[in-house]
Amino acid sequence: MNPIVPNNLELVADIVFDRPLRKAFSYKIPPDLGDLISMGKRVKVPLGKGNKPAIGFCVEIKNIPSDPKLKTITSILDDEPLVSPHLLEFTKWIADYYLCGWGQVLQAIVPAWVRSGASGPKISMIDLSEKFQLTSATKKFSRLQMLVFDQLKLQRPISIKELCAKSGCNPSVVNRLIETEWLVKYFIEENQSFPVEFDTITPSSEIHLNQDQIAVSKAITDQINTGKFSSFLLHGVTGSGKTEVYLEAIEAAIKNGRQAIVMVPEISLTPQTVYRFKKRFSKIVVLHSNLREAERGKNWRLVADGKVDVVIGARSTVFAPCPNLGLIIIDEEHENSFKQDNTPRYHGRDIAVKRARMLDIPIVLGSATPSFESWHNACRNNYKILNLPKRVRDLPMPPVHIVDMKTSPPASPSLRGMISEDLKKGIKHALNQNGQVMLFLNRRGFHTFIQCPNCKTVENCKHCDLAMTFHKRKNILLCHHCGNEKKPANRCETCKTETIQFKGMGTEKLEEEISKLFPDKVIRRMDSDSTTKPGSHEYILKAFREGLVNILVGTQMIAKGLDFPNVLLVGVINPDTGIHIPDFRASERTFQLLSQVAGRTGRGDKPGMVYFQTYYPEHPAIVFAAKHDFISFVGEEINHRKSLFFPPFCRLARIVIRSKSAEAAATFSDELGEQLRIATSEIKGAGKLKILGPAEAPVFKLKEYHRFHIQLHAENHTLLHNLIQAALGKMKPAAGLEVVVDIDPYNLL
Ligand code: ADP
Ligand code: ZN
Repeated sequence: MNPIVPNNLELVADIVFDRPLRKAFSYKIPPDLGDLISMGKRVKVPLGKGNKPAIGFCVEIKNIPSDPKLKTITSILDDEPLVSPHLLEFTKWIADYYLCGWGQVLQAIVPAWVRSGASGPKISMIDLSEKFQLTSATKKFSRLQMLVFDQLKLQRPISIKELCAKSGCNPSVVNRLIETEWLVKYFIEENQSFPVEFDTITPSSEIHLNQDQIAVSKAITDQINTGKFSSFLLHGVTGSGKTEVYLEAIEAAIKNGRQAIVMVPEISLTPQTVYRFKKRFSKIVVLHSNLREAERGKNWRLVADGKVDVVIGARSTVFAPCPNLGLIIIDEEHENSFKQDNTPRYHGRDIAVKRARMLDIPIVLGSATPSFESWHNACRNNYKILNLPKRVRDLPMPPVHIVDMKTSPPASPSLRGMISEDLKKGIKHALNQNGQVMLFLNRRGFHTFIQCPNCKTVENCKHCDLAMTFHKRKNILLCHHCGNEKKPANRCETCKTETIQFKGMGTEKLEEEISKLFPDKVIRRMDSDSTTKPGSHEYILKAFREGLVNILVGTQMIAKGLDFPNVLLVGVINPDTGIHIPDFRASERTFQLLSQVAGRTGRGDKPGMVYFQTYYPEHPAIVFAAKHDFISFVGEEINHRKSLFFPPFCRLARIVIRSKSAEAAATFSDELGEQLRIATSEIKGAGKLKILGPAEAPVFKLKEYHRFHIQLHAENHTLLHNLIQAALGKMKPAAGLEVVVDIDPYNLL
């Protein structure tokens, strides 16, 4: 395809690198590579003053007047482009919007396995045998063997390594099952795409959509059939059957010969969720960060080759290389985990809407508690709102009992401030009806801080300005931010007092106290400490689902997406922790979390009951969550946002300046603040704008870095961009000083 180049022009390629560079670099294309180069392939080139070899993506090929200063491409690494023209355009937009390097975005979206062009040794794959399919129903297997089969029912074939990792069994269990012919083993090339099959999953009895579900599904499928962009906000209370609507929509997209992306928060990416999609669609793959590199890479390849109808995964699934994408669905669109907390700092929901717009396809954002951003968009007719106001089968929303911890008696004197008599009675009642109980506490560990009664010093992490948490089983103090751990001292390091006090309750202590109150019940805890072993997460949930566990204690891991009809009581031990975080979304987040947790009960035939224990029974987040009243909550809260010029009524950016030297960070942030104010006066007709700071970040010291921040509120994002670029363009951070620009930030600590 060597184009004919006029004499004074030459053919060059624009290359971007995995670095925070805002522009592409042009390189000459040597004649022997002219036929091979194309956009989306990677090349090796000399970079910088030292001409060090570097790898970059080719993003443009063009003719420009000859320039002897241009360097030349050394070699081309890929036979085929790794990203399509559409994904190039999409990633360019992301780099421009989030003010990072285009190459950084490209590097982040193409799995390492694909970049490495991996191919190589044979790997052994395990599958269920014919004997298993025919005769397993009548056979009794051990618990470990069942774990192996359960994993295979979700995903087959699977490599032996992964099967062991995910089922938590060791290879001897699997090998024994191969010897006894319940499983079969065969070899494939490492890079061979294996069939995506899930046919052992038997469809459950068919669900008949109710009137509301039918109406909502029709609105979405009509749009899918037009094949045009539209953004739907599906507001449906917990248990209203949103997932069934997603399934209908996906089916319509597939009927039109197109693919669908389903994005769910990492935390809801449980086998239970994935299972519901696998039950309905056969050509489906999961893309998420827990997968082995090779598996993620292979799934990515299958998707790019058009062999997959449905891709489900966490936020990075927004980049799935579907060749003919027809629909994007985002479940729990309000979840903050869609925002990436390192470069590129994209918000999966926001860029998904952008991608849908670019491809001119529909997108559905679903939630029981929509984000204020999406709600505002719906109010301005940017999104079409669809409602599922009732639970399926006309099940009522569970009544919520607010326990005022200031006045309510504790279950026992030592449980003051932790477990009330009311909650204890409620639990007893639920258990007496053979129901199950979920208790939610968003703090892991045993005691959440330790304090000297004399000088009041709280033991903080030496690397961070944050209290250390006491973990009893391991007998350590642990920093939940940097992982620093130490043995608890028995006296105060500041004043040497020996009666140091352990305070605050985490899930580990809650589990212990509940076991004392209900000694004859089976209690399990689910948090990131109790689920470190692969498969343990699903193992606990399975035991709970099968009724082997009476009370499940846990962090936000148990708050979302779970659908257990026999849960008759949900208790929120301390919803107050989130309310006072210095973040303008604190109230919104508390409301969302409480609504989600409350939604875990009343999903079966027996009615459910919810308890919120709080010291702030009048707080709007608590009052409205208790009434399941999103509309009133948003109506009241959003006015504060408006009057204070906060999102969704402005565009926000946060600049964090960090250094191990507090002084260096302070000096640079003062200068940057000055430059921003100068730039403001220079940008004419700037529009409404507010600059807060520089100030110390709420968590000033984190992982040994001292941090300052500046917050910018602007009427539109162009203004934000111009301002930041003008100011930062004039400054050069010294070595050891980092400047992080976060557009539409969700983490303000
Ligand atoms: P949501 O995502 O809104 O919380 P789900 O889609 O998880 O709700 O549905 C909750 C439960 O109700 C699921 O067990 C689902 O199978 C069931 N369900 C959904 N739609 C119907 C229906 N029309 N009739 C009966 N059960 C339904
Ligand atoms: Zn720390």
